[in-house]
Amino acid sequence: MGFDLPDLRYAYDALEPHIDAETMELHHSKHHAGYTAKLNAAIKGTNMAEKSIEELLTEHNGIPAVRNNGGGYWNHNLFWRVMSPDGGGSPDGDLAIAIDDAFGSIEGMKDEFTNAAISRFGSGWAWLCSSNGSLFICSSPNQDNPLISGNGIPILGLDLWEHAYYKKFGPARGDYITAWWNVVDWGAVAGNYTSTQ
Ligand code: MN
Repeated sequence: MGFDLPDLRYAYDALEPHIDAETMELHHSKHHAGYTAKLNAAIKGTNMAEKSIEELLTEHNGIPAVRNNGGGYWNHNLFWRVMSPDGGGSPDGDLAIAIDDAFGSIEGMKDEFTNAAISRFGSGWAWLCSSNGSLFICSSPNQDNPLISGNGIPILGLDLWEHAYYKKFGPARGDYITAWWNVVDWGAVAGNYTSTQ
């Protein structure tokens, strides 16, 4: 019973040199595994045990152990799926049109996303979200996300916790963000966007 830690679609060293293998292994096998185990412990034997992760985040986010560990569980599931060793470049299709509509260009979207990520104080996440097909950018503290706040559905997310980048980049969050764009899987992001339509 409970939630399972998902396998990655790629090896821990597959995102080198942009995201280092040691960080990826610790991040997945320790941090994400930790959120998963603590979420399962928090819901075990309660009426929450049969709920989906989305139901837990929208209906039971007043319980800190569910909000923090459930958010951590959902956020990292998204994070791994929007990265790929074949990532980088630019989106196309309906996602590219929606980005142009909302931000003027892919460069405009990246600039706003990067600013949101750099200006988030302390630990949190930056998001590209869809709300009724329209895109917007925001950030969240801790392991919160826009599902919890009811603002929209994240289709792309960037982990801003120091555990995501400090081994390779130290305090240079901006360098981490610059490197990360090289592994963003726009096909996966487009799939997420389509699923919100
Ligand atoms: Mn993390």
